[in-house]
Amino acid sequence: MTARILDGKAIAAEIRAELGEQIEVFSQQTEVTPCLAAVLVGDDPASEVYVRSKRRTCEKLGMGSQLHQLPADATDDQLLALIAQLNADRAVHGILVQLPLPPQMNTQVVLDAVDAAKDVDAFHPHNVGLISQGRPRFLPCTPHGVCQILARSELPVSGRRVVILGRSEIVGKPLASMLVQKTSHLGSEYANATVTVCHSRTEDLAAISRQADVLVAAIGKASFVTAEMVQPGATVIDVGINRTENGLVGDVDFEGVKEVAGAITPVPGGVGPLTIAMVLTNTFTAARLAVQQSASA
Ligand code: NDP
Repeated sequence: MTARILDGKAIAAEIRAELGEQIEVFSQQTEVTPCLAAVLVGDDPASEVYVRSKRRTCEKLGMGSQLHQLPADATDDQLLALIAQLNADRAVHGILVQLPLPPQMNTQVVLDAVDAAKDVDAFHPHNVGLISQGRPRFLPCTPHGVCQILARSELPVSGRRVVILGRSEIVGKPLASMLVQKTSHLGSEYANATVTVCHSRTEDLAAISRQADVLVAAIGKASFVTAEMVQPGATVIDVGINRTENGLVGDVDFEGVKEVAGAITPVPGGVGPLTIAMVLTNTFTAARLAVQQSASA
C-alpha cells in the first residue's frame, strides 16, 4: 500500500484564500486593518527568513505587519519595554516573539508579558488555560495546523487512538489538550480522541506507536519513526523539521513509512505551511475581538 500524501501547502493556500476574503469584508466594515507585530532578537538567519515570510504573507492578505528587531545582546528589560509598547498600541492586534530568544533572556517572563488578547502564539498561561478548559480564544498554531490537515483531509479522530510523540509546550501538550476535548471549532469529529503522549522516558515506544490510528511525530529527531513503528493504514502527521546533510527532513522516515501508512504528511510541505497560516488566523481573531470589545466598552 502506498499512503495518500496530505498536501499541507495546498491546505494552507486554501486557508489563506478564505482568510483574505474574510479580512477584506472585515476591513471594509470596520476600517480596521488587522496587524501583526513580529519581534526578532538577534540575527539568526532561519528566524529572519521565517519572520520575513510571515510579513510577506500578511501583506498579500491585506493585513498590516511590523518588524521590531533588537540586537543579540539585548536585555530582558529592553525586550519587556518593547512588548509593553506593543501591548499599549491599539493599531497592533497580534504580537509574535520569535523563538528561540538568546540565552541571557528569560523566555517565560517575556512570553508572559505579552497581552493575552494579543498572544497569537497562544503561549500565555491565560490562553493555555482556556484551551485546556475547551473554550479557546486562540488556538496554538502548529497543533491547530495539525487539526486543520486532519479535518480538511476528512480524517476524523473521534473515538480513535491518537499517539503524540513529544510533550513540548508548543506542540505535543497543547495538541493533546485540544484532541481530548468533547468538541472543537472543526466539529466533534475532530475532538474526542483517545490520546497517548510519549516522551524521552516512555518505555517501549514502538509498541505504543503501533497502536495509533493517528500518529503525530514532534520530537526533533530526523527519520526517527520507521515503518515497523506504524500500524498499517494509520495516518501519520510529521511535525518535525530537521536540517541534515540531505536537506530538511521530518521525524518520520517518509520513504519507508509511506509504504505502510494510509495517509502521511511530507516534510517540507506538510505541517510547516499551516503554522504560518494559523498565526495569521489568530491575528485576524485578535482584531475581531478588539473591535467587539471597543464596541461594547
Ligand atoms: P522540543 O525539543 O521542545 O520537544 C521535543 C519532545 O520530544 C520532548 O517532549 C522530548 O521528550 C521528546 N523526545 C525527544 N527525543 C525523544 C525520543 N528519542 N523518544 C521519545 N520522545 C523524545 O521540540 P518541539 O516540540 O519544539 O519541536 C519538535 C519538532 O517539531 C522539531 O523538529 C521542531 O523543529 C519541529 N517543529 C515544527 C513546527 C512546524 O511548524 N512544522 C513548529 C514547531 C516545531 P522530553 O520531554 O522527555 O525531553
